[in-house]
Amino acid sequence: MTVRVPAKVNLQLSVGPVRDDGYHDLVNVFHAVSLFDEVTAVPADALSVTVDGPAGVPTGPDNLAARAAALLAEHVGRRPDVALHIRKDIPVAGGMAGGSADAAAALLACDVLWEARLDRETLLELAARLGSDVPFALLGGTAVGLGRGERLTPVEVTGEFHWVFGYADGGLSTPAVYAECDRLRAAGEQDSVWPEVSDDLMAALKTGDAEALGRALHNDLQPAALSLRPSLRDALAVGRDAGALGSLVSGSGPTCAFLAASLDHAAELAAALNDSGRFAAVRPASGPVPGVTLV
Ligand code: ATP
Repeated sequence: MTVRVPAKVNLQLSVGPVRDDGYHDLVNVFHAVSLFDEVTAVPADALSVTVDGPAGVPTGPDNLAARAAALLAEHVGRRPDVALHIRKDIPVAGGMAGGSADAAAALLACDVLWEARLDRETLLELAARLGSDVPFALLGGTAVGLGRGERLTPVEVTGEFHWVFGYADGGLSTPAVYAECDRLRAAGEQDSVWPEVSDDLMAALKTGDAEALGRALHNDLQPAALSLRPSLRDALAVGRDAGALGSLVSGSGPTCAFLAASLDHAAELAAALNDSGRFAAVRPASGPVPGVTLV
């Protein structure tokens, strides 16, 4: 059983003040793009995970795909007797929710392999228990996430948008980026306002207006990511100078996302980003694309 699952970029990531439980209220506009991991599930004596791809992905029970298989097995009352193999193309700790994507893929792969046939609501509920980005990886497309990001409403989008992603050498820890965001706000270096969905962003998506989308992109975690990784400032400038309609850090970073005007423009932009030598890898992609899909 093989399942393909996309990466996400946040078109809007607005972060509210810290709540009593330590989390932040978010307005999170997720957009699934055509960079994919693949998770294969085959029957086995015991739960195991192997990974084909970059270093830094745990292969033990901490792997989010393994946790998803274990949670589903517990839910349906069986042993998690499955061997999972992950082919990673989504950057690790890159702000594109690769681990969450693998968890969503493992949920679907095991649901089919074990003939559990859980309904969508139950899968989404299990997904939310695994992490706030996991439900979106099941859904795909473009969606607004409220709360910790897990309460999802699909967004109407016309056409497709063309992107180029600049992968960095090494990742950034999401909790460290949130902590830096809190630190910058406490020091008065960044405002903290109640997050609201951007009307300009919704209008740009509905009309398929790439220029307006470029202007509406927003990430409250970007100052924190730039503070922890100052070289990202120059990396973003390369895209802007090369004519990107919008340039921003993806989620908690350090992957940089650049919006192009067309497929041809994305190829030109990718060439300029490659020539700059500032990225470990440069990848064109389009969005929105569907969420987890059986191959
Ligand atoms: P997000 O955008 O959701 O904040 P991210 O894209 O920055 O996440 P991930 O690639 O999801 O980060 O991984 C974060 C950490 O999770 C990794 O450093 C790794 O230790 C751990 N992890 C566990 N399972 C996986 C997995 N299947 N793939 C990648 N990382 C995993």
